[in-house]
Amino acid sequence: MLWVKLLRSIIYRMKEIIVIGGGLGGCEAAAMGARLGLKVKLYEMKPERFSPAHTMEGLAELVCSNSLKSESLENAQGVLKQEMSIMGSVLLSAAEGARVPAGKALAVDREEFSRLVTNKLVELGVEIIRSEMVELPPERPVIIATGPLSSDKLMQNFGGLLGEENMFFYDATSPIVYKDSIDFDVAYMAARYDKGGADYVNCPMNKEEYENFHREIIASEKTPLREFEKIPYFEGCMPVEEIASRGVDTLAFGPMRPVGLIDPKTGKRPHAVLQLRQENKEGTLFNLVGFQTRLTHTEQKRVFSLIPGLSHVRFARFGNIHRNTYINSPELLDDTLELKGEKGVFVAGQLTGVEGYIESAYTGLLAGLNAARMVLGKEFLSPPPGSMGAGLIKHLHEGGAGKKFMPMNANFGILETPLPGGKRLRGKEKKAFQAEFATRATKEWWQNTLES
Ligand SMILES: Cc1cc2nc3c(=O)[nH]c(=O)nc-3n(C[C@H](O)[C@H](O)[C@H](O)COP(=O)(O)OP(=O)(O)OC[C@H]3O[C@@H](n4cnc5c(N)ncnc54)[C@H](O)[C@@H]3O)c2cc1C
Repeated sequence: MLWVKLLRSIIYRMKEIIVIGGGLGGCEAAAMGARLGLKVKLYEMKPERFSPAHTMEGLAELVCSNSLKSESLENAQGVLKQEMSIMGSVLLSAAEGARVPAGKALAVDREEFSRLVTNKLVELGVEIIRSEMVELPPERPVIIATGPLSSDKLMQNFGGLLGEENMFFYDATSPIVYKDSIDFDVAYMAARYDKGGADYVNCPMNKEEYENFHREIIASEKTPLREFEKIPYFEGCMPVEEIASRGVDTLAFGPMRPVGLIDPKTGKRPHAVLQLRQENKEGTLFNLVGFQTRLTHTEQKRVFSLIPGLSHVRFARFGNIHRNTYINSPELLDDTLELKGEKGVFVAGQLTGVEGYIESAYTGLLAGLNAARMVLGKEFLSPPPGSMGAGLIKHLHEGGAGKKFMPMNANFGILETPLPGGKRLRGKEKKAFQAEFATRATKEWWQNTLES
């Protein structure tokens, strides 16, 4: 009945969604709420206040690279983009309008991109308020999407709510590689002194290999530190190149110490050993223990491939050390991006512990969807199994093998695709199957979502 529909839409319009932060996650969340017919207020602190990395007045600012990464479905970000397109991402359609040539990547003119996103939000009726939020407003639903450089006052307030121990301000991550790209003719599974299960992958090095590796890591190119990133390193997460710079033996006596790790092929203790620890439940991803690093991505590929057993290794994520505010999502967030203890408070963007432009935007879509469903009195949703979105949300929800929670970007290792029985797919064929499955699952799920 028309009048019932009309009445309902008037009531919905009276209820509003508050979004804090007009970056990638916040803009996507605000647009989703508005696209679903709701009133949305978006608070953005620029130009009243800029984070140390933001400089433009516009929304959805790309603070560093102008690339939203590959569009190829052989690439995890390509698969995620495909899922976002199905969900009607406004950021992706703005990116299309602001596209600049960049081969298989989707790169944009950042000013034009920001302008198109801002215009789209205005067109959708989002009310944009240029003001810093210093505390959580009482209204619900509210979506917090203030990013890796969230303003201090708000984070103090948020920390009070979540517990200081659940807030992280730096991201010091080691590279993560695909297990099936490790050469097990060289590497071996073992635990130090055979204690516990043989859970670690060990890459043994002789003296010559180790010294060559040490030379190259010292000579390698590092990502320059920005002013706001000049932080004193604490010993527990010292960059591997920093340890190496303290002397030729420091790695062999530190994270690469070989004691208790006899190489079964030689029956001897190697000169040094790189250990890799399982990263996800499926055992497809392993991280390089103690190898948090500021080496550029190209140099990580070159230098870490010198390690025996890793000569053809594929990286799921490169190592990193940078300023990054994020929360302990496995403790705090539901798989709908709502805070467990705070009804109607959603988190989106890099603050959730995803890493990357596209991943941040994706969480905005989901948080916006569920905030809207809260207003509409509908049940909350999470992405369908087998999709890249589901893999990311699972990482946020479960955090990877019970360790300190670390941010993650999209990669094929987080996909849980039911593979066809009896068939062992590998390499490109496996990726194509996974991408196809993820797309199909998302299409079906989104169709049902719109109808439910
Ligand atoms: C220096 C740097 C470089 C990066 N480079 C890349 C890269 O090249 N490629 C990549 O994929 N990822 C990169 N990232 C990671 C990440 O993808 C981006 O930071 C991304 O923009 C995160 O999206 P977001 O929506 O979570 O946060 P943002 O895009 O940062 O948006 C947050 C917004 O919230 C606003 N805000 C903050 N506090 C408040 C407040 N209290 N009240 C109101 N508004 C507030 C900010 O002004 C900002 O506009 C980089 C991160 C940093 C810090």
